Amino acid sequence: MKIKSVLLLPAIAFLVCAGARAAEHLRVVTSFYPVYVAALNVTEGVGGIEVSNLTSPHIGCLHDYQLTAGDVRKLADADVLLANGAGMEPFLDRLTKQSPDLRVVEVSDGIPLLDNNPHVWVSFDGASRQVDNITTVLAEIAPDKADALRANAANYKAALAALDGKMRDTLAPHAGARIVTFHEAFPYFARDFGLDLAGVVEREPGTEPNARELADIVKLVREQGVKALFAEPQFSDRSAQAIARETGVKVHQLDPVATGPSDPGAARGAWLAAMEKNLAVLQDALR
Ligand SMILES: [Zn+2]
Repeated sequence: MKIKSVLLLPAIAFLVCAGARAAEHLRVVTSFYPVYVAALNVTEGVGGIEVSNLTSPHIGCLHDYQLTAGDVRKLADADVLLANGAGMEPFLDRLTKQSPDLRVVEVSDGIPLLDNNPHVWVSFDGASRQVDNITTVLAEIAPDKADALRANAANYKAALAALDGKMRDTLAPHAGARIVTFHEAFPYFARDFGLDLAGVVEREPGTEPNARELADIVKLVREQGVKALFAEPQFSDRSAQAIARETGVKVHQLDPVATGPSDPGAARGAWLAAMEKNLAVLQDALR
């Protein structure tokens, strides 16, 4: 009896250590910037969870993104990949086939989509539901940290709700204002604030409109009484400026928060800061 328990001890100690190590250090990888920001907020100050972003914070939307060898290496020791989902990451199907052991969670799960548009985080409601989904999955993986994760999520969601209310109040007088944005990143945002998205400058970000498409947008801006053109800080505003010259409608910058500072301290507040700035820009543009 005595010998048996002595023999068992190292095995138990090993299991406890392995279990503790896994729980102690959880590697969370996010696919791109807005998911990174949300995950940083949910995990703030919770020990033993490391959040890193797969793609450079300058990449922006992942519409045409292909994984690099470095990305695949980074995912090799990840406990979970948090992806935006809703079609934002074109590499997910292949990745899950190549790495069947990697846990991949699409944080837009359960969020009703508008025309299959993946930019659900450009909305207070969408961002808040993504926070819920991230919290649920991380609390399930690390149940010992669930309370801390839920408390963080509640704090961050309260900050989101406060700014949402402020923006709704401030933008209410501009309901129905017609705007043109740079790429199709703002349908959820426009819905939330009652703005009318009359068109987009570039259907595919990075593909400048041809002369005919440009002429079509110029016509639309004139005929529909578009109030403002919005470029994005992530891209050149050349096309938008060309439309502005033709129509006299000014170009402003609206940020879909697809890029930002990578330092966790700065990134944590980046979504809210960008929306505060978007509010100021809209107030100026829609006067
Ligand atoms: Zn996009």
